[in-house]
Amino acid sequence: MSSLDPRAPFVLDTRELGRRPGAQRELSISVPAPAELGIEVLHVPEGEQVQLDLRIESVMDGVLLTGTAEAALEGECTRCLEPIEDEIFVDLQELYLYDDVTRDGADEELGDEASTLEGDLLDLEPLLRDAVVLALPFQPLCQDDCPGLCIDCGARLADEPDHTHEAPIDPRWAGLTALKQDQD
Ligand SMILES: [Zn+2]
Ligand SMILES: [Zn+2]
Repeated sequence: MSSLDPRAPFVLDTRELGRRPGAQRELSISVPAPAELGIEVLHVPEGEQVQLDLRIESVMDGVLLTGTAEAALEGECTRCLEPIEDEIFVDLQELYLYDDVTRDGADEELGDEASTLEGDLLDLEPLLRDAVVLALPFQPLCQDDCPGLCIDCGARLADEPDHTHEAPIDPRWAGLTALKQDQD
């Protein structure tokens, strides 16, 4: 009946909780990231380890999962295209209803949206994907005030704060400009 593969990295088997409310188990696992975890400009590289520290707990209608996920991020600045390396740390929490509970309509209002177990198996991947995307900035930047690229020549302005295409600085003022830069 189940379409989940119990050997898939993000599928957890909750059988040992035995549907006894209150029974719980903690697990700390490291699993390879699936493809496209995150957004195009900032994501967990495929195959990179995702550290999961989880607790699964049997409750009345299903299994409550809580925990954290931690992984490396790779991407690029949306203003200057500089590569970005970062880390992500997200909280995870989700109630997975027993599939016979949802089938019986015991939770009709939740039924459509709630996650469900397939038999004893729980698929963590959709939850992880949502949590990662929500935690990412919409437009990642290499630094908060990244000035982007020069519209005239494409130079990365963060590397050249004084970049300009105007006439060169009058040599009589060059000394003063240098002095001002030192103070900055
Ligand atoms: Zn940048
Ligand atoms: Zn330029």
